[in-house]
Amino acid sequence: MRYVSTRGQAPARDFAGVLLAGLAEDGGLYVPEAWPQLGPADWRALRGLPYPALAARLLQPFIGAAIAPDIVARLCAEAYAGFGHPAIVPLVQLETNLFVQELFHGPTLAFKDMAMAVLGRLFEHVLAERGERATIVGATSGDTGSAAIEAFAGRSLVDIVILHPHGRTSDVQRRQMTTVTAPNVRNLAITGSFDDCQDLVKAMFADAAFRSEMRLSAVNSINWARIAAQVPYYAAAALALGGPDREVAFAVPTGNFGNVLAAWVARRMGLKVARLVVGSNRNDILARFLEANDMSARPVEPSLSPSMDIQVSSNFERLLFELLDRDAAATAAAMTAFRRDGKMPVPGAAWHRARTLFHGFRLDDPGTLGEIARLHAASGYLADPHSAVGIAAARARPAGHGVPMVAMATAHPAKFPDAMEQATGTRPGLPARMADLFERAERFDVLPNDLGAVQAAVRGLAGRNAPR
Ligand SMILES: *Cc1c(COP(=O)(O)O)cnc(C)c1O
Repeated sequence: MRYVSTRGQAPARDFAGVLLAGLAEDGGLYVPEAWPQLGPADWRALRGLPYPALAARLLQPFIGAAIAPDIVARLCAEAYAGFGHPAIVPLVQLETNLFVQELFHGPTLAFKDMAMAVLGRLFEHVLAERGERATIVGATSGDTGSAAIEAFAGRSLVDIVILHPHGRTSDVQRRQMTTVTAPNVRNLAITGSFDDCQDLVKAMFADAAFRSEMRLSAVNSINWARIAAQVPYYAAAALALGGPDREVAFAVPTGNFGNVLAAWVARRMGLKVARLVVGSNRNDILARFLEANDMSARPVEPSLSPSMDIQVSSNFERLLFELLDRDAAATAAAMTAFRRDGKMPVPGAAWHRARTLFHGFRLDDPGTLGEIARLHAASGYLADPHSAVGIAAARARPAGHGVPMVAMATAHPAKFPDAMEQATGTRPGLPARMADLFERAERFDVLPNDLGAVQAAVRGLAGRNAPR
């Protein structure tokens, strides 16, 4: 399987190449040269497989010859072995034709684990094959950093350095990162904002000498392997509900558009998906786009669902490329205009095509608390603020008579105890396997918002990665 850049000016790569590269050199995102296709009989043959086996089978066409199938199967089995639910991605029925798929049973209790657990093992395998090492650096305001640290902790060929804004993450999120004691993990608390952290990471990547000296790599949400590893749970839900012989619909609480893009990919591979509902909080650029072709960025405002507090959804570029019939020059021009003017020009025909499948939905904070309370009263179900937006989106935009709608639950309610208490009156406890999170010792370094200081810290951990 070959991958091409959405902007058409970077070399084509195989799966291992795009895994390690992340972003393409032309600033574009890698997408498969052609989408794998499964016929109805192929989908039916996948029914009833344990989730890790299903994941391996659906990842394989994206990996192609880069990694052998028996190895992919083993890596997937290992990736999901530590999850806190035997079904890995259980479906819970809330109402007639309304289901929740829980994606939060991984080590950090958020859906990022679904892909990151696989990614960590794929990285280690590919590096071992090549006789290379790598240093992952990233900035986080919450779930991505902790999922990455969990996935890479203890791996022998990868070091990982995660920057977070000092004192500005939730206690649970910070402790999930800072209580990991593996020697290849380093947490840097930067006295600054999340944007400062992100700028420091960008500056490290822009420093070509430092980048190659440290063999820097990234696992942010634009890494293709993360999208690929999210496709299987959409298939799992559809197959459980009668697919491919029955249409299903999905509602997805959305930030960077990575999760819902994986649903689009499942459909592109041949799964019958009637509708995709994109749930947003008050940061509603995607809802405005789908309503009125208004893709204009506004300042990010904090909400009860912080992982969706995003105004530029980086993975949207992959959908745009498809909506523009894979015209890389037009995609590059639209992205340049977006960066320059803060508004993305999407041709009317492409917008109309998006609207035949995607529907937008927005919910503000009071609405989110109301939905959490309503769900709790109706069935006792506890949905975190992100999942509540997804469930409200599913209820507001049903796909039609008899089409089951599956809302993606992306975080465990215990990650957001304050919002849960406000809505329901009780604070959900952490699952038993991490009940001692607040007793574990934390380890992190507080550093100024200064590139030199951060680079020195990365060198200190990762110096052993210098080419020998
Ligand atoms: C990352 C995240 C999202 C948003 O997912 P995208 O793929 O960025 O759209 C939603 N909910 C939670 C809990 C998350 O961690």
